[in-house]
Amino acid sequence: MKEKQIYIFVGPPGSGKGSLSSLCTNKMGWVSLSTGNLFRKHILEQSHIGKQIDFAIKSGKLVSDELVSEMVRDWFVEYFDEMPAIILDGYPRTVVQAGSFLQFLREKFGQFQLRIVRFFVADETVVERLSNRYICKNIDCQSVYSLMKGSPLSPRVSMMCDKCDSPLGRRSDDEPRAIRERLTIYHQHEKNLLQFYLTHKYPVIEFNVDKKLHDVFEEFKQLMCLNAS
Ligand code: AMP
Repeated sequence: MKEKQIYIFVGPPGSGKGSLSSLCTNKMGWVSLSTGNLFRKHILEQSHIGKQIDFAIKSGKLVSDELVSEMVRDWFVEYFDEMPAIILDGYPRTVVQAGSFLQFLREKFGQFQLRIVRFFVADETVVERLSNRYICKNIDCQSVYSLMKGSPLSPRVSMMCDKCDSPLGRRSDDEPRAIRERLTIYHQHEKNLLQFYLTHKYPVIEFNVDKKLHDVFEEFKQLMCLNAS
């Protein structure tokens, strides 16, 4: 059996992990798991998990390592066999999550190749992007748009989703205080997380994403030696 490719996108909020994931899933048939999207779905469905995490998400804090890791493990058990390549967008975010994830993969699946990609971009760029970000309110869609002038992520019809025609809205954590909190938390964990991968002999691929989405996608394919149009 061909080794599964698992791409771990590490980067601050608003660095474009989700947008690149969407391009990879649409153009290359990959699958992506965004833990943030799963959590937002739980909140909107007012599930048992949703009620526990609502406050953490709104204030930009992290959800507990145990809860997120359990959710990811369940997802992998369901989807792993069917997928050629998997992108993790927003997980692992802490060293504890990374350790538990590696252990789980080794015990459960054995054959896999991990590719860690670190997105880097200036904090000011991220703040500007997040302040202009809108998402589709349909919880099964959650496509991301930008109202920044000239952005390729502008919706075709004002405030409506191109894919499912649902209205667009703001994320509750895309407001200034929560954005600052999320950036601070990201920077608190980034160094240790990257060091963790290096210690476990997984190279970290550095990726400057301060460029247009089209160029990010082209460069990503080159960096990973992938051919897709
Ligand atoms: P994101 O959509 O990736 O920006 O995530 C939105 C929010 O979901 C984060 O600010 C956290 O509150 C929560 N979250 C997502 N992924 C994780 C994770 N791996 N660990 C802890 N909290 C997470």
